[in-house]
Amino acid sequence: MNISELLARNARKFPEKKAFIDGEAALSYREVDQAVNRLASSLGHLGIQRGDKVVLYMPNTKELVFAYFAVLRLGAIVVPVNARLVAEEVRYIIEHCEARAVIAHDWIYKELDPLVGQVDVFWIKTGNAQEGWVPLSELILSGAADPIVCPLKEDDEAAILYTSGTTGRPKGVLFTYRNILTVAIMMAIETKMDKESRILHMMPLSHSAPLHLFFIGGMYVGATHVLSPSFSPESLLNLVEKYKITHFFGAPVAYLLTAKHPRLHEYDLSSVNYWTYGGAPLSRNEVQFIAKQFRTDRLMCLYGLTEAGPNGTYLATEDHTTKAGSIGKQAALNCEIKIVDEHGNEVPVGEVGEIVLSGEGTMKGYYKDEEKTAETLKNGWLYTGDIARRDEDGYIWIVDRKKDIIISGGVNVYPKEIEDVLRTHPYIADVAVVGVPHPEWGETVKAFVVTTKPFNNLDDECKRFLMGKIADYKIPRLYQEIRELPRNATGKVLKQALRGMDDETIARR
Ligand code: ATP
Repeated sequence: MNISELLARNARKFPEKKAFIDGEAALSYREVDQAVNRLASSLGHLGIQRGDKVVLYMPNTKELVFAYFAVLRLGAIVVPVNARLVAEEVRYIIEHCEARAVIAHDWIYKELDPLVGQVDVFWIKTGNAQEGWVPLSELILSGAADPIVCPLKEDDEAAILYTSGTTGRPKGVLFTYRNILTVAIMMAIETKMDKESRILHMMPLSHSAPLHLFFIGGMYVGATHVLSPSFSPESLLNLVEKYKITHFFGAPVAYLLTAKHPRLHEYDLSSVNYWTYGGAPLSRNEVQFIAKQFRTDRLMCLYGLTEAGPNGTYLATEDHTTKAGSIGKQAALNCEIKIVDEHGNEVPVGEVGEIVLSGEGTMKGYYKDEEKTAETLKNGWLYTGDIARRDEDGYIWIVDRKKDIIISGGVNVYPKEIEDVLRTHPYIADVAVVGVPHPEWGETVKAFVVTTKPFNNLDDECKRFLMGKIADYKIPRLYQEIRELPRNATGKVLKQALRGMDDETIARR
């Protein structure tokens, strides 16, 4: 099924149902479907055809919904990108995917204005007409109302999602319709979505978890979607209470910030059936802190990566009392998991290995990068680059990302273990541990620390705190105070950027 058929189907089955709430606007499935038909017809007249790539540079708004489905209706390929990217980052993506058109939101189109005339694509924007830009509203008004039907097969290409680029240049992850529907249905089932569900979309819909799991998952069941273009603890709490939200997905950092909101307890959050989090690690202490602050036993951890759809594992709500901090025991529906050694053999319980995943949600490959695709997809398994071990009860604990492991004097040091301990210090708000070059040991361990009060001697205080809690060789030799860690839009610390920052840049942050 063409994913945009989900919209047409919902419009047929429950036309007047509230489909999308965006600020003051509340649109029914029928209204959205009609706008999408007209937009698709106009985009077709403009010259956009099956297989063309269309970059969507838009925050979570109703216009993003129109554009997303209209592009798919033509059999073209959607390339949603994070609305916080700067012009050069978007330019890289436009050129890499050989886009035919870019659709930008009025609030942010100015960022791309310098590219108009330089890059040969159709430039389309919401809001008023501007030189060089075609207004989206006119395309909707002038388009034919008849539905466009582009016959597609399950294995046709639907989307390219660029990874967040935490570990290097963003990679274009290519998905077929089958990939996307597989993970969307998985999430709808695992979190018991139905047409009464009300899903809050606050994380950028350019990322695979918000987009495929919750947006398309919710479309699959005909849920009501509440769109929020940005995140703040205050707006999260207000929207959950106002719309009696049943499902929310957030990056760990969104939960940690909201958990510290001074008036959190005044909000009625009882409608939420699933507070899902994932995309980056949370330690046991942090999960317990969030559960306590939110006064909920409805937390659910999702583990996955863009390349997997994202499919992966989940830690069920009921396991949070005993196994908080783990990513769960088994793979999600339609997915298989193993922890393997360098030869691809499963490692025994307690031993560290790499997580590999397989399933129909897994990407078709990296767009225009056969070499990387072959390195990542081997014998039907997706090599995740995540290092983990199983405990005696079968639960999986992420140890770290392969690329972040520090090799000091020939010994592996896992930064996450050190970060988890340092975060329990009462005056340490945030921390990132990286390896920096060392003439004798290859690498030495360095901690970047955000403190909530000034320390007399940061090195001594941290070392004393870590002593006895972790082995001596893991205790960082170098420390540096930083006001704020560089993070990407999903809240992951940009360790590569941190390693490369000079002292002056750090002092300025
Ligand atoms: P790039 O590949 O460009 O560096 P990225 O890896 O940050 O980008 P994502 O696909 O957003 O792109 O991130 C997936 C990674 O996030 C996983 O491989 C894993 O390391 C981490 N991750 C996801 N969910 C969890 C979780 N629940 N717990 C711990 N880590 C997680």
